[in-house]
Amino acid sequence: MFDLAIKGNKILTPDGIRKTIVIIKDGLILDLVNDLPADANVIDIKDKILMPGITDPHVHINEPGRTSWEGFETATMSALAGGITTLVDMPLNSSPVTTTVNALEEKLLSATNKLYTNCGFWGGIVPGNDKEITGLIRSGVLGFKVFLTHSGIDDFPATPGYELKKVMPVIAKHKLPLLVHCEISTQVIPPPVSDVRSYPAYLASRPRQWENEAISLMIRLCEAYNCPVHIVHLSSSDAIGQILRAKIRGLPLTVETAPHYLYFNAEDIPDGQTQFKCAPPIRERANNNLLWEALQAGIIDFVATDHSPAPPELKLLESGNLTKAWGGIASLQLALPILWTAARKRGITLEQIGSWLCEKPTQLTGTYQRKGRIAPGYDADLVIWDAEKQFTVTAEGLYHKHKVTPYLNETLYGVVEQTYLQGVKVFDNGTFSHPPAGKIISRL
Ligand SMILES: [Zn+2]
Repeated sequence: MFDLAIKGNKILTPDGIRKTIVIIKDGLILDLVNDLPADANVIDIKDKILMPGITDPHVHINEPGRTSWEGFETATMSALAGGITTLVDMPLNSSPVTTTVNALEEKLLSATNKLYTNCGFWGGIVPGNDKEITGLIRSGVLGFKVFLTHSGIDDFPATPGYELKKVMPVIAKHKLPLLVHCEISTQVIPPPVSDVRSYPAYLASRPRQWENEAISLMIRLCEAYNCPVHIVHLSSSDAIGQILRAKIRGLPLTVETAPHYLYFNAEDIPDGQTQFKCAPPIRERANNNLLWEALQAGIIDFVATDHSPAPPELKLLESGNLTKAWGGIASLQLALPILWTAARKRGITLEQIGSWLCEKPTQLTGTYQRKGRIAPGYDADLVIWDAEKQFTVTAEGLYHKHKVTPYLNETLYGVVEQTYLQGVKVFDNGTFSHPPAGKIISRL
């Protein structure tokens, strides 16, 4: 009759959290019912939460080429342990970067038999690779990522506006999104950094105006070419007004922010703590409160981790030099408990968490017709977690390759217990099923 039935009091459905029984067959959600025959084999999760698996569209896996930084195996294991059933890999900082069809093929090859969770790929736009766009689309990328400022690695340079005018019509024709790192460093010159360990000095070195200017450029181009534009990791609350006006005008513009902008505040970050370094930077409390408001108002669409680890030696933990340390925060496995811990203090509902982590990101990845909802016909990618249970983040509990993260020793609410991919339990309280069962997600 069916393969699996999960009964619970707090199941997140499109109609909200409710008591129901989810029936699964052939990897899909068959139905939601109120009763089953007494002899039916049912898993009863009682007051634990059953939610659609999380989609994280912003992950730097760095393989091939920088597998010492992360890698498909460790990244996708930590994703599963965090309830993430689909993630999308960024075109950098792997080597080669994913800006050509050959590089994508190399990446797909290196991912073989290593994907514990479902994984899609963003292609990269760099100056001069416009001839590769159609080929990358034919090879299954979900969209493209571009930088307007230096990305941190030299083989993924910034793309100037006149180059974007060449590529945006092509991307628009295929109705794929262009993801943009919105910082432009040319117009506003920040003050020189006098103390390389000072967090306020680092913050001042990447001013809000860099983001604001980049976002207004991208809104203009979005309108000119009717090309879907997605602003990644929004940090400047000053840009919220122009984003709202663009959305009211009906432009195909979407926005994500990252958990670290919602969980931490600049005022609390000690000097020399390079694990907090990312770009754009974590800003002041007043700024971050406005990000929360914009998220609740739907002006910011969702939250993605921007998981971007590096070996501890590149984080320069001993010298604490914020100007030289590699920027990027590792948080993939903790996406759900971080957001939930910060959100519950604000009285935010689990329905909102589900919308920001599970449902809305599937619109960006193009998987919204089969993932992100517990409804008949959808893939049975699911996570079971305890929203009331707390845990303290330890290095031993993380499956990321490197354990450096500003969340170490934080006590968080929300323990992920089981994760399912297409109706099969693939993670159970620290145990993974082998071989890896993740699939490649493509637009084809
Ligand atoms: Zn990123």
